[in-house]
Amino acid sequence: MTHPLPRPAGSGRLAGRTAIVTGAGQGIGRYAAELFAAEGAAVWACDLNSAALEGLVGCRALALDVTDAAAIVKLQAEAGPIDILFNCAGLVVPGTVLDCSEEDWQRSFDVNVTAMFRLIRAVLPGMLERERGSIINMASVVGAPKGAPDRCAYGMSKAAVIGLTKSVAADYVKRGIRCNAICPGTIETPSLHARLETTGDFEQALAAFKARQPMGRLGQPGEIAALALYLASDDSAFMTGQSVMVDGGWSL
Ligand code: NAD
Repeated sequence: MTHPLPRPAGSGRLAGRTAIVTGAGQGIGRYAAELFAAEGAAVWACDLNSAALEGLVGCRALALDVTDAAAIVKLQAEAGPIDILFNCAGLVVPGTVLDCSEEDWQRSFDVNVTAMFRLIRAVLPGMLERERGSIINMASVVGAPKGAPDRCAYGMSKAAVIGLTKSVAADYVKRGIRCNAICPGTIETPSLHARLETTGDFEQALAAFKARQPMGRLGQPGEIAALALYLASDDSAFMTGQSVMVDGGWSL
């Protein structure tokens, strides 16, 4: 087998592959969906917010609530065999262990964990048939690698994503399936802006969020999407079960 060489973006490294990207309406998921499409993949770009999917370049847009089990089965039937699943949809529910309600806890796990479990179960049989597939799960530096204040349910759910990732990787490592997780630091996306707005002091909160990264800045969606592309492609063919930190040094 030849060793993969660096290639310029847009050189078709996902040519002939079919991908599902969830949370593709904005932020990291949107960037990744368009990047996968630019690299030749047929992309099913899914989001709860159908309006947010408008204008996505090169993708097939689909309104999908990842907590809807029946809709996931329907997507699988419609999309056919899937080569790449990027489980990117997620949400941040703030709160400590004392002020996180049972509902907040349940919602965090429904969206951030159970939806991934269901999507993986939907696409995996087809991947196993063809002995080929890359599954990428969105975790976070918050959770297993680091604790963060006011993020109890979020951190627990993202830690569970790492457990799910290792479990799938271990079970199917001999059958052509790879499963890896991405752990971003603080990334400048629409939902981050919304979280900063709710603090009441945008500038002060922004400075504090930047300071979490020793590099002194926020990450950009494209910096995370580039890793998703690497994990989706054969460039990472020897890699499975990993949780990759892209965090400006936060986890150092
Ligand atoms: P975002 O939070 O701005 O957007 C998330 C997208 O997911 C939205 O378009 C939303 O409509 C969609 N979504 C939410 N619930 C959904 C559901 N039930 N079904 C389908 N779609 C749903 O995007 P982001 O900040 O890039 O976050 C993407 C992922 O990255 C999330 O899993 C998040 O937890 C993770 N992450 C983000 C950061 C960050 O700092 N932004 C850091 C670490 C991890």
